[in-house]
Amino acid sequence: MPNCFLISFFVALSYLVGVLNASIGDSNPHYKSCVEQCEKTGCIGGRCFQQCRFFSDGVSVDGPQYMQEPLYLQWKQFDCPSECKYHCMLDREKEREMLGLEPVKYHGKWPFKRVFGIQEPTSVLFSVCNLAMHFYGWLSFFILLHYKLPLRPKDRKPYYEYTGLWHVYGILAMNAWFWSVVFHFRDVDLTEKLDYSSAVALLGYCFIMSILRAFSVRDEAARVMVAAPLIAFVTTHILYLNFYKFDYGLNMKVCVLMGVAQLVIWIVWGGLTRHPSRRKLWVVTVGSALAMLLELYDFPPYKGFIDAHALWHAATIPLTYLWWSFLKDDAKFRTTNLIKKVK
Ligand SMILES: [Zn+2]
Repeated sequence: MPNCFLISFFVALSYLVGVLNASIGDSNPHYKSCVEQCEKTGCIGGRCFQQCRFFSDGVSVDGPQYMQEPLYLQWKQFDCPSECKYHCMLDREKEREMLGLEPVKYHGKWPFKRVFGIQEPTSVLFSVCNLAMHFYGWLSFFILLHYKLPLRPKDRKPYYEYTGLWHVYGILAMNAWFWSVVFHFRDVDLTEKLDYSSAVALLGYCFIMSILRAFSVRDEAARVMVAAPLIAFVTTHILYLNFYKFDYGLNMKVCVLMGVAQLVIWIVWGGLTRHPSRRKLWVVTVGSALAMLLELYDFPPYKGFIDAHALWHAATIPLTYLWWSFLKDDAKFRTTNLIKKVK
């Protein structure tokens, strides 16, 4: 198993080198002049874009007075270049396809075809499925603990010591998938930051949970001692990304580090423990490691729709189901043990 992680580390490193390089697509002179021309005139060839109609030297050229609100103008100003880049990219890709060439990246991203204005429809679809799966998992976990399993007689609270912590996990996971849906729907600065920040927060929290559960940290003070430095680290990282520098390379390193660390913890714990559901844990951890390789092995979108990232999102759907199933088993297992102890 350690070999597997070594491989994923090296793949991650080679991927980082790729990320740091400028994209081939947007450095092409034809593409550059197409975008420049389009932003100036609002048209490519015979096609003109609504988003670009309001601008000529930064002053609105037509449209009624109410449409000249600053916010509206800002939106248009920001949307015209994105529209131009998108259509110039499609044109370039069509030319490349006719020459029998492989797709290339533009501004660090693969060329995706929009469907009803949705930028990456397959990633949106799979993100929605993940969100729904987490909601189902969390809801069934909630019902199990608060309505099906016996409660402590003195305070009517669940016996399971990690109940509250897994509730927080469920909320953070649903939050992360919600912003993933929004980001893949439309990739702009704000949605990208919200998606990345939520994902890092979730990953950091999962890392804390892996330590707390695998080492059976049940004492409140000890939990705070473990969580505080990690929360401080993750918070600083998120603030750095949002308010100082949005560094993809650094973020990738932080995510791979936290991701691999928690996988190692779960796998080692899964190997040592006599937990009745350890097989589910193995499947989830090995599956997550393989899914991570998929994310790191970054191939272009098939037919402009399905890329490695979308497949990664698809792979996490069954893993999410199994993960919540493991958590429910864990709650049952701990509750039975604790009741036995009380008796
Ligand atoms: Zn995504």
